[in-house]
Amino acid sequence: MPAKKKTPKKAAPGKPPAPKTAPKAAAPKKVPANKKEERSYTGTPKVNAPPRRPDRLLFGTGGTPHTAGPRDHPTAVRRLHELGLGVYEMEFVHGVRIRPESCEEVNRLQRETGVRVTAHGPYYINLFSLEEEKVAASRTRVLDTARALARCGGDGACFHAGFYQGRGAEEVYARMKRELAALADALRAEGCPVRVDPETTGKESQFGSLDELTRLAREAQRGNLGITVDFSHIHARSGGGFNTYDEFGRLLQTIRDRNGKAALGDMHIHLSGIAYGEKGEKHHLDVDESDMNYRDLFRALIDMGCEGRVVCESPGLEFDALILQRAYRELNGG
Ligand SMILES: [Zn+2]
Ligand SMILES: [Zn+2]
Repeated sequence: MPAKKKTPKKAAPGKPPAPKTAPKAAAPKKVPANKKEERSYTGTPKVNAPPRRPDRLLFGTGGTPHTAGPRDHPTAVRRLHELGLGVYEMEFVHGVRIRPESCEEVNRLQRETGVRVTAHGPYYINLFSLEEEKVAASRTRVLDTARALARCGGDGACFHAGFYQGRGAEEVYARMKRELAALADALRAEGCPVRVDPETTGKESQFGSLDELTRLAREAQRGNLGITVDFSHIHARSGGGFNTYDEFGRLLQTIRDRNGKAALGDMHIHLSGIAYGEKGEKHHLDVDESDMNYRDLFRALIDMGCEGRVVCESPGLEFDALILQRAYRELNGG
């Protein structure tokens, strides 16, 4: 990617990126049409030098790193810490299964290492199912994700809320708002401190555009209801949009205008390379094999004074998280 204008050293928190300083859009890269053959990620990842300016965004993986010995949650936290990364998203995508001893160990390790822990709930969640049993099971899956995460000492329970199933967007929105507010209230009532973070989704059939989720968070007015902003999904869902400095800046302004400045102060972000078609997301890719313009995203995040966690969901996991962290640190002044 060509060298671009450096982000000014003094980032003015809260100041929207000024369009006149926007770097030129990079020429779109070719995205492989088909999923690559399974490749192996072995070897020693190249650890980044410590930052000269403190990181305001921490990077890590969605799921256990490839180079973690036993692929369990405590080992994942230890390995990410060794690599100088700072976030671990536990993937409960096929069910919330974690032993109480593992929760205790993750909790101890996150306190010792400073690695921040988040969680991704099961894929089988649809809070707009037309079958009440499925809605009830979906509610339980969200609650269990948040409860397990709380036991691990983490925050930010991410999940895909559900599907439109041919119903009108407003009808689905109204139901989702009710459901998500009720889940946030249930967690608060039982003293669970975890924030519920429904994710911006990658397909048009899935509920969860940034517009819907920021509106929902504003209208529901629950302090423990946030958003997971998956920039790759937003890019894919729009069929290739939202991939320039100005567009990222506008997305961040929408979040700030609707959900307040604090929403930019503890962001739960997902980022990876992504392949997409007319219907949106196809599958994840490594960032440098994709057209995901992560450098301009980081410029916009830095210029808007954003802080929080960036979970990398690329096939390369920690290898890609380190690439992203390096790019972020370069742009953030070292
Ligand atoms: Zn997800
Ligand atoms: Zn995601």
